[in-house]
Amino acid sequence: MLGLQGAAVEHRAAVEKLGHVAVDVRRPAHLAGIDGLIIPGGESTTISMLLESSGLFDPVAGLFAEGMAGFGTCAGMILMSREILDGRPDQRCFGVVDLAVRRNAFGRQSESFEVDLSIDALAEAGLGSEPFRAVFIRAPYVESVGERVEVLARVEGPQGAFHPVLCRAGAHLVAAFHPELTPDLRLHRLWLGGAGTQP
Ligand code: GLN
Repeated sequence: MLGLQGAAVEHRAAVEKLGHVAVDVRRPAHLAGIDGLIIPGGESTTISMLLESSGLFDPVAGLFAEGMAGFGTCAGMILMSREILDGRPDQRCFGVVDLAVRRNAFGRQSESFEVDLSIDALAEAGLGSEPFRAVFIRAPYVESVGERVEVLARVEGPQGAFHPVLCRAGAHLVAAFHPELTPDLRLHRLWLGGAGTQP
């Protein structure tokens, strides 16, 4: 997983609990041999800056272009999207999932909250139908999705409309919340099941 900033340690623990090897990616050399990349939550503007200064942005973009699977959570979802709304003008994103996402979309009143999501894709993958406890921290939501993007869960935004917060596009998975902060490993399991295949 990308270890530049944010909740990388918890993602590492989840990946290792599921019997996979996790590599802390901080420099381009660390990308050698990886099958997939988790981009954790944190602050997308800072991660974007660190991706540039570490020389990681272009090699990661190259690997995505070759079909590497990505799992982006919160700030990671922002970085994997096509368009950032309410972003900083100089922040970059990889554009691998055809989404327009709005940063800090839930506003000040509900900067952090938890909600139980019912996610049919988990049951379809044989991972059970119990709700998934989703932790949102200054989270983005999705304003619009492209044709090839599957919406797996939605949450009501401050204006009353429901917005996608969990999406899949081929082997890529993006979540506006933090699945690494709860003991439920099913979304990591879902992504690892698909990692390595062509998006
Ligand atoms: N608000 C942060 C951003 O815009 C994301 C928050 C998070 O990752 N928990 O990058």
